[in-house]
Amino acid sequence: MKFSVFGNPIAHSLSPSIHQQFAEQFDLELEYSRSLASNAGFAEAVAAFFRSGGAGANVTVPFKSKAAALVTHLTPRAARAGAVNTLIPLGHGQLAGDSTDGEGLMRDLQRLLPRQALAVEVLVIGAGGAASSVIEALQDAGANVIMTNRSEGKVAALQQTFPGLDALRYEELSRTPAAAFTPKIIINATSASLAGAGLPIHPDWFAQADLAYDMMYAKDGTDFLRQAKNGGCRQLADGLGMLVEQAALSFALWHDGRLPNTTQVLAALRQQMFAD
Ligand code: NDP
Repeated sequence: MKFSVFGNPIAHSLSPSIHQQFAEQFDLELEYSRSLASNAGFAEAVAAFFRSGGAGANVTVPFKSKAAALVTHLTPRAARAGAVNTLIPLGHGQLAGDSTDGEGLMRDLQRLLPRQALAVEVLVIGAGGAASSVIEALQDAGANVIMTNRSEGKVAALQQTFPGLDALRYEELSRTPAAAFTPKIIINATSASLAGAGLPIHPDWFAQADLAYDMMYAKDGTDFLRQAKNGGCRQLADGLGMLVEQAALSFALWHDGRLPNTTQVLAALRQQMFAD
């Protein structure tokens, strides 16, 4: 059985290693490759992969929205998010698209904050595929989600789909938070960290927060997490846990519901990250 992850860049993707470790838990044999695609070539690359017998694929930055437009069947949650991270072949040229990012994030947040109800204010920075995929899961857990993005039109569009979603003007991030906003969890769902850039965010946003979460992960940490630490945030987390959790949920979709144990895989990846 062969699987792949499509993205750009993709060279450092940990997905092949994660899925190999999951497969070992169930004594399954699989091949999981990285597929670098261009914007113009993404749809054809995916089609060629499934024509050649691909059993499933993941989609990452920047193709999640393109993937949602490409599939013949969308799960309701992927349709609402307008983003797909998991492709499942249905035969006869049909392709289903789902998004496991939201549930993956929730599983990681429950691990990080086991004693805290998630019915709190959550500030999500970014409005791309990853950000839109986590709104529903956060709202279902009772969170009041506030979203801000460099390009504001994207948040307004998401508010049409998610009526409870609050918007914050991006400029407000660089000022002390108004009394109306006291987010306990601040999530960086932008790809700024991928480019090694921080965000224009005032340290006071972090002083009152319980958790700063960067969906991105890097051996040396990220600028966003350094900003959060300097701002006095109580707890910091990168997106490695979310990566492993969303991968486990994709794995279950491809392998008859078999859900891998993520604890040991996350520990092994952390160890590997610091050994490299
Ligand atoms: P998209 O390309 O769909 O969206 C990118 C988002 O980042 C947009 O909101 C964009 O704003 C914003 N952005 C990019 N550069 C900057 C910048 N310099 N300053 C401010 N905002 C910026 O990407 P995804 O949503 O798919 O992924 C976003 C991040 O989440 C990536 O780092 C990715 O690696 C990570 N991720 C991690 C996962 C995990 O499992 N840990 C899962 C999914 C994603 P604008 O609209 O203005 O362009």
